[in-house]
Amino acid sequence: KLSKRLHTIASYVPEGAKVADIGSDHALLPVYLAQTGRVAYAVAGEINDGPFEAASKQVKEAGLGSVISVRQGNGLAVIDEHEVDVVTIAGMGGALIVSILEEGKPKLASVRTLVLQPNVAEDQVRHWLVRNDWVLHDETVLEEDGKFYEILCAYRHPDAASANRELYRPKRLGEGLIVESVELARYGPLLLTRGDAAFYDKWKSEIEKISHIIAGMTRGGTEAAYKRQQELLAERERIEEVLSCWQ
Ligand code: SAM
Repeated sequence: KLSKRLHTIASYVPEGAKVADIGSDHALLPVYLAQTGRVAYAVAGEINDGPFEAASKQVKEAGLGSVISVRQGNGLAVIDEHEVDVVTIAGMGGALIVSILEEGKPKLASVRTLVLQPNVAEDQVRHWLVRNDWVLHDETVLEEDGKFYEILCAYRHPDAASANRELYRPKRLGEGLIVESVELARYGPLLLTRGDAAFYDKWKSEIEKISHIIAGMTRGGTEAAYKRQQELLAERERIEEVLSCWQ
């Protein structure tokens, strides 16, 4: 059975799309998309030998060799220009996702939809989208096996700059709390506006992580350690302030 995470990613892939799943590992996502008839064409890209072999085996065993092309290579280098209209990149850090998108920019000319699931540094991905005229169409945060995942779906937009200005315009939450654009990129402008249960739980768990770090810090440490502690305290307070708008 497909994980809730991959299932949600799949739900953002438009019906009939030609999709490239970059960093596909066992090619679970393209296999699911092909088996359910959602896509008639997919590329599964993998840089590493082990996952590339696993993907090839999976596709062969599913009898989907004519629908899914498994290729070994770095990021978007595995696709030709104008070959696909959707790119999915999931299960890696935000910085790596950004570098794959940045290095593969010419390959994105024909792409209309990006579905991205960074494990960390989601804000870096949102900044890249804004800088490159992509607009968030939707975002989801979900919890699975005790971990939180954010899934970002972005579209092209005829006036991306003004759509993004609107999306990241400082927002007023609750009574007088202003959330600036840099913070919006961190929380997710759409996730923050909705503030659903998984969003709340994710940031509650971030508060716990910060508290744990603070508790582990020794007293009377260096100046730098003291400064770090103050930063963490301020960060925790800010998250609590933002969450208090949904209590
Ligand atoms: N996308 C799958 C998922 O979300 O379940 C697999 C995620 S797995 C943790 C990340 C995969 O990305 C690994 O199999 C790794 O080999 C691959 N990878 C890392 N850097 C890559 C790159 N530059 N190009 C292609 N694949 C890459």
